Amino acid sequence: MIADNLQRVKARIKTVDDHQQVTLIAVSKTKPVCDLQQTIDAGQRHFGENYLQEALNKIEALKGRGLIWHFIGPIQSNKTKMIAQNFDWVHSVDRIKIAKRLNDQRPKNLPKLKILLQVNIDNEPTKSGVLVDEIDHIITQFKTLNNLTLKGFMCIPNPSNAIQSFAKMKDILAKYPNLEDLSMGMSHDLESAIKNGATFVRIGTDIFGKRV
Ligand SMILES: *Cc1c(COP(=O)(O)O)cnc(C)c1O
Repeated sequence: MIADNLQRVKARIKTVDDHQQVTLIAVSKTKPVCDLQQTIDAGQRHFGENYLQEALNKIEALKGRGLIWHFIGPIQSNKTKMIAQNFDWVHSVDRIKIAKRLNDQRPKNLPKLKILLQVNIDNEPTKSGVLVDEIDHIITQFKTLNNLTLKGFMCIPNPSNAIQSFAKMKDILAKYPNLEDLSMGMSHDLESAIKNGATFVRIGTDIFGKRV
């Protein structure tokens, strides 16, 4: 059933992904290893996790399978070391202090940690992410962080105006020729995200079912 769900999501992506630019991240938070395994058997390689300890258990259980792990949850300072040691991508960097810690703690024998800056695109007081006005300044500060590579932006727009917010993200990315990635689009809005240039979509519910 999970494998069927995965195929359905891939088919939805295909109908809008004209440039074949999109990578599907299976968001597996709260789901057991056996659920991930079903998608791995069906060819899935990219996984997104929000909770560190849970993620570390899965990374350990599934090591050697060539999986790519994306950290997409809020980051407290005391979590950066294990994130830097165990993940390939971090989508939820929203302040330079966290970026500096990830940089200092990234093991030298691993490739650079790939970073997306989380943008609070709708200026919502309750949401994390840098404000649009702060993006320029924070990007300048990344230049000295040699163990990180800044790839682009992530956002979680307010569902009431997601399409407009995706379009804003597309315009923002266009201002930075060195950046290429936009992580946006979840189960309910992946089509409009892709139409606005998403390169990663993060899909949980429509692959693994509802979370309880
Ligand atoms: C849980 C989560 C998702 C997946 O959302 P679904 O609606 O279940 O597809 C995507 N991105 C982030 C940041 C999440 O926390």
